Amino acid sequence: ALSLHHLSKRFGPTVAVDDVSLSVEAGETVALLGPSGCGKSTVLRCVAGLERPDAGRVCIGGRDVITLPPEARHVGLVFQDYALFPHLSVLGNVAYGPRMRGAGRAEAQRRAREALALVGLEPLAGRRTTELSGGQGQRVALARAVATGAPLLLLDEPLSNLDEQLRARLRGDLRELFARLRAGVLLVTHDQREALAVAQRVAVMRAGRLVQVGAAGEVFARPATAWVAAFLGHAN
Ligand code: ATP
Ligand code: MG
Repeated sequence: ALSLHHLSKRFGPTVAVDDVSLSVEAGETVALLGPSGCGKSTVLRCVAGLERPDAGRVCIGGRDVITLPPEARHVGLVFQDYALFPHLSVLGNVAYGPRMRGAGRAEAQRRAREALALVGLEPLAGRRTTELSGGQGQRVALARAVATGAPLLLLDEPLSNLDEQLRARLRGDLRELFARLRAGVLLVTHDQREALAVAQRVAVMRAGRLVQVGAAGEVFARPATAWVAAFLGHAN
């Protein structure tokens, strides 16, 4: 679904992403895991077309997309700050993507309700998004990404605003959801448990570089360096 070839991006003197190569197969969830500031969001933003990389290639569905505008990339996105449209209802927010891609009103709403049901928010379909809690808003953002039907989902800390209990529940739900969607998912997180619970593969990032990529269980069982071991052990 996605492949990155030697992707690099700097901001002035800061090397945010340094020669990152990574692939996400169709139907696979890959967690991009690393400490704050290591470049995770920048990788996602490059894939989404919101940042232009200094070097390297981004291929989605086998096509080099570096020159495509963001709207032509057909990815489902959840930002770290998951901005929702304040003038639209919950349902309107989630139906927006399908509408933009040409679905009729009824079909877009059907898909939106389905996506909302997946995150447990169908009862709030008629609410204004300004009347949601942080965690509810985040789940709406997730439903909005899912409803696009995009073959590639880019999720930046999709559970960061939820309490531990809800996070724990949604981890299991996400795994099932992604399996059902058969989409490729690149999931950015700094939560080791989330990576282990949701992803088949984990890519550990440090200071712009990938330091270990492997099957989730394998990375946790056999960290490649002392730093990875310390990082993975840290929040448990
Ligand atoms: P977090 O877990 O805190 O969200 P992250 O891994 O997502 O961190 P990035 O947001 O990708 O980290 O940032 C990587 C580095 O690039 C950081 O040093 C950050 O300060 C820098 N950076 C990111 N965006 C910009 C920008 N627009 N201008 C300048 N520096 C930036
Ligand atoms: Mg980030």
